[in-house]
This record gives sequence, structure tokens and C-alpha cells, in this order.
Amino acid sequence: MSILVVGSVAFDTVETPHGKVENVLAGAATYFALAASYFTKVRIVGVVGEDFGAEQEAIFLNRGIDISGIERAPGRSFHWKGEYTGSMNEARTLDTQLNVFAEFEPKIPAQYQDSEYLFLANIDPRLQLRVRQQMPKVKMVCGDTMNYWIADHAAPLAEVLKELDVLLINDGEARMLAGVHNLVKAAEAIIAMGPKSLVIKHGEHGATAFFGENSFTGAHKLSRPFRAPTLPLAELVDPTGAGDSFAGGFYGYIASQPELTPAVFRRALFYGGVMGSFACERFGTDRTARLTRSEIEERFEIFKEISHLEHQPA
Ligand code: AMP
Repeated sequence: MSILVVGSVAFDTVETPHGKVENVLAGAATYFALAASYFTKVRIVGVVGEDFGAEQEAIFLNRGIDISGIERAPGRSFHWKGEYTGSMNEARTLDTQLNVFAEFEPKIPAQYQDSEYLFLANIDPRLQLRVRQQMPKVKMVCGDTMNYWIADHAAPLAEVLKELDVLLINDGEARMLAGVHNLVKAAEAIIAMGPKSLVIKHGEHGATAFFGENSFTGAHKLSRPFRAPTLPLAELVDPTGAGDSFAGGFYGYIASQPELTPAVFRRALFYGGVMGSFACERFGTDRTARLTRSEIEERFEIFKEISHLEHQPA
């Protein structure tokens, strides 16, 4: 099983109350690919500039990620600059430079054509659509977006939403996309826009999944909303990439399973939370790039434990 991901491969400059890093390897597709690589094979489509060298390549190759679909272009890679203050639940974007992504025309390499799972990570919805159109036979399509695209690129984003089995966004973005504050109403409105299911991430408070009528096929019944936890962290150093790492754990686990059932979806949300929590413990990709499967399983067990309630006799 392989996941093909298209999204930003970037350099970030990030400041949090714990310090500052400049020009570290980051980007939505990067965090996603690293997290998903613990569960399944991952291939990336994207573009980088002349600032992307052997040091950055090694971070992907050490995790067995196929980067032959990352194009090299003259100029600088995508750069994002942001900061987190207070509860650190939301980033404040200080600067976004699309650079080589501004002129990018995605081409899917022949050896990627048999990918069964497609992830449209955060990037211009026009690029997400062009990749989707080149992969008509995929089994499942999931995607992400952010306020930057919701605010000013509504028309192409509406087309992307119609293509999605699952949309993963945070609660602020869900409210913005739906134009409604109440999250249940926002979820209904978003599902009416196209995605079969919706995962709303609540930062350090977990995630809630909402299911439309066509979320599952076959004998599986429509599920009620499902809430998965995250682990309260003593060391919340840098939340950048938590959302993409969540998506990587979630989708990587789904791709590793023979069938998408409600039970698989729920476990996938737990794995998403696990990968998101690791991402926050260090700046950049430092933690997500150097995990072991046993560390992941250990934390998965903690997630199960902290959210388990026994039925006790009165
Ligand atoms: P998150 O998982 O939501 O924290 O995503 C963080 C990553 O998104 C950062 O590493 C940024 O490089 C990347 N990013 C920020 N703004 C954008 C944007 N407008 N389009 C695509 N990627 C972005």
C-alpha cells in the first residue's frame, strides 16, 4: 500500500515561548510523510528550490520516503514564518513566501501511478485539484487546507472538497469555512460541501470526527460523531506540524489496514493524536523523524488508557 502526498515542502522560521529556529526543514507534506512513514510507504509530489540539499534529502530517505516526485526548480523553496504565544493553540503567520510553488505544475511520475491512497496536504487548492485529476483510480482521497486558502481561494477549494473522502481541518478553520460558530452545525455545513467525513482537530484537546451518509460502504452503519483524545504534554515546545503529523498517523494507519471500517477510522484518530503529540515535543521535524514503532505503540496504549471508562455496577 502506498500513499501519494502533494503539499508544501518548506523551510520554516518559528518562534515559541521555548525559543526560535530559522529555516528548518518543514512543510505540510514533509510532516505528513514523516508521520505516515511509520505505517506505510509514502511518495511525495512537490517542488523545492536550490536551498534544498543533501541534508534535507537525508531526513526523508532515512525514513524510506520516495522523493523522486519532488521537482527541483531555480530559486528558493516555500518559506513560512510564524509564532506561537500564550496557550500556543494557533500559529500567527508572520510571512508566507510561495517562491518555487508559485509556478509549480505538478506531474505525477509513472512509478507513482499505482498509489492507492492520495493525500492533498495543505497547499494551493488548484495544485491539489491538478494532482487529483492525474490520479483518477485512487481508492481514497483525504485532504487538508488552512485559513490562508479558505479566505482568498474559495472557488478552487470548493472543487477540492467535492473530491474528498475525509477532510481534516482545525476547529478555527472549520468555523471559517462554514461561516458558523457552532461546530456541529459547521460540520453539517461542511459535509454538505462534499467530503464524506470530516475530522475537526482541537489542538491540545483532541479531535472529533463527523460522518456523512456515505462515509462507509458495505455493511457498515453510519456512526455518531467520535471524539479522540490527545495527551496533555508537559513539554509543548513547538506545535508546528502537529496537524500534518496527525493526518500522517491517521491516514498511514488507514492505508495499512485491509478495509476502512468505523473501528479502523476510530483507531486511526488515536494514531493521529499520537503522531501529533510527538511532533510538538521538539522544534521542526526533530522528534517525528526519529521515532520507533514501539514508542508509537506505547503512546497509543496511553491514549487508550486515558480515554477508557469501565462500566461499574452502581
Ligand atoms: P500545521 O501542521 O498546520 O502546523 O502546518 C505547519 C506547516 O504548514 C508548516 O511547516 C508550514 O511550512 C506549512 N504552511 C504554512 N502556511 C502554508 C500555506 N499557506 N500553504 C501550505 N503550507 C503552509
